[in-house]
Amino acid sequence: MYKIDCRNELLVWGFGLLFMLSHLGVTAQNKVLIIGIDGTRPDALLVAKTPHLDNLWQNGAYSFNAQTDPLSWSGVCWTSMLTGVWKEKHKVYSNEYKNPNVKEYPHFFRRAKEQTPNLKTYSIANWKPVHTILQENDATGTIHRKTDKKVTDEVVKTLKNTDVDAMFVHLDDVDHAGHKYGYALNNDKYIGAIEKADEKVGKIVKALKRRKEYGKENWLVLVSTDHGGTGYGHGKDIPEHTTIFYIASGKDVVQGELLKQVNIVDVAVTALKHLGLDVKEEWKLDGEVSGL
Ligand SMILES: [Zn+2]
Repeated sequence: MYKIDCRNELLVWGFGLLFMLSHLGVTAQNKVLIIGIDGTRPDALLVAKTPHLDNLWQNGAYSFNAQTDPLSWSGVCWTSMLTGVWKEKHKVYSNEYKNPNVKEYPHFFRRAKEQTPNLKTYSIANWKPVHTILQENDATGTIHRKTDKKVTDEVVKTLKNTDVDAMFVHLDDVDHAGHKYGYALNNDKYIGAIEKADEKVGKIVKALKRRKEYGKENWLVLVSTDHGGTGYGHGKDIPEHTTIFYIASGKDVVQGELLKQVNIVDVAVTALKHLGLDVKEEWKLDGEVSGL
């Protein structure tokens, strides 16, 4: 009798261990790529010819009626996206990033690493101030390049050769076009800049799919923007400035239009959730999981 019991117990433990290992294996392979295209109005995105972005949202979860911070400046909004809390908590009220409250509300890379210290995190940006909220060791790589082309080259290179678990990419040319020529649907230069950004998204997604271990990896790709614009600027609490798009693409995504209100603060929370992390109540994040 004792022998049989013992064997059964061993079997139970064995299966338990197997389950744990396979579960850990799956969790460890969950990865996130966030692409932020600065200053891209969702209605302009729908006017532009963007086959790569279309492929992502048409096979993913999406909202073209998501909301950014009413104070629609880049610094404020990117910080909301990457921390998962609104400005009242992260305290970034302008592009000058005076005294960001990163101790209490850090970049989501830091939250992720608190639970899984060996995660490899990369932030590759055209607009350098977006990195201001990164604290020591939050990012495995913090890379600034002065053009979207160089940012894209760096992203492609990193995805090809590097062990990456979470990556944030920032493209800025659409916003430059908006400031210079106007954020308008009938403005060829603004629309053309969105089309060029789409080509870069295509290159990045292609590089992702060519990763050696891609078959074993489970990537969530999130694409969004920080704000829209009118005339030659943004920063106001008006729909043309505060309405943004949100796209989530990947195996775990529930396909279709998100009918609930999506907010820019959902990006960090959705990323953390996909990375298999326990999003703690005590972090007081404002975002929700959107699209998984
Ligand atoms: Zn911006």
